[in-house]
Amino acid sequence: MWEAQDGRCDYCRIFLETQGLTQLSIDRIDNDNREYGRHNGHLTCWECNRGKGSSPHEEMVALWEKRKLLWADQTVPAAID
Ligand SMILES: [Zn+2]
Repeated sequence: MWEAQDGRCDYCRIFLETQGLTQLSIDRIDNDNREYGRHNGHLTCWECNRGKGSSPHEEMVALWEKRKLLWADQTVPAAID
């Protein structure tokens, strides 16, 4: 899983660490499926896993898509000479 995801959270793409809010955790993609196996587990940061709670995977993906659009909208301040 680690290699496949390049060491990043599957939702927010942040680099996973061993502690803090970006601490890696294994999330079940389908909450109704009790297994953490190859097809139902993926790595997320602690914050995303906690934020997701029992919401469906699709909802979480949709949320991050909205966030990315929002961020893409913001103009980067010009560098100060
Ligand atoms: Zn995350």
